[in-house]
Amino acid sequence: MARWSQQELRVHVPPAELDSDAPRVEAEEARRLISVLRIEGGERVHLFDGTGRSRKAVLRRGGRHLFCEPAGPVMTAPAPRAVITLAFGQVKKPALEFILQKGTELGVHRFQPIECARSVAAWEEDRAGRKRERWQELCLHAARQCERDDTPELRAPVPLAGWLDTPRAACFAAIERSQAPRLDMDALPSLAGEVGLLTGPEGGFEPAEMERILAAGCAPVSLGSRILRAETAAVVLAALVLYGLQAFSPEKNP
Ligand code: SAM
Repeated sequence: MARWSQQELRVHVPPAELDSDAPRVEAEEARRLISVLRIEGGERVHLFDGTGRSRKAVLRRGGRHLFCEPAGPVMTAPAPRAVITLAFGQVKKPALEFILQKGTELGVHRFQPIECARSVAAWEEDRAGRKRERWQELCLHAARQCERDDTPELRAPVPLAGWLDTPRAACFAAIERSQAPRLDMDALPSLAGEVGLLTGPEGGFEPAEMERILAAGCAPVSLGSRILRAETAAVVLAALVLYGLQAFSPEKNP
């Protein structure tokens, strides 16, 4: 018979706070809990620090501040068997945010924007720090929503050639309008180590880039006969691979 688990209130605290005797909830998180969720104190919660560690606790309220009384030891999530990097040709902000949010929910471990010949969006270096912080925050919100204790890392863009030169256990590149085969779902559960997933920008890869991708040993895969938007392709490829890896099973890609 099916068993249902109870939804728990999830609260983010910085890594150093998780280990303390009275973990303090940061101002913004406290505001969300007090004004949106109407926390009064005394609630049992699941604390997580975004690095894969968590702890059960009881919330204590002092005005607009929230502290926690630990109710258990610090737990560390097991390291994933396969570490998934989702690399995608740079896209504009709404598409990037879509990829970050959905990719986090699916279980991607790292996001890597790639500078391609046909990339439409440039990473504005001057404001990149602040923006990256905001996008990391978006990943944190998605992690809390989907009950992940770790938050994926968003890396600064790198040129395609540089990314392809990095050795990894496996790499899959989504190539449209080609004879590329579909993903071999039966082979996915045995994947381990660093796994790269690559999708192109809105304009697609240039022929020279495609040759480079194949020469680097990336396995070309088709996502079907329709031409998907760049952000859809990135999320679909991640969903298929993570599903194949059984990341959705109770063990969550251990
Ligand atoms: N401008 C290209 C064209 O019209 O041929 C389409 C590029 S598509 C919008 C952006 C990226 O999504 C592609 O580079 C590819 O990585 C991926 N993609 C989209 N549809 C796909 C499909 N059916 N199979 C594999 N990859 C696909």
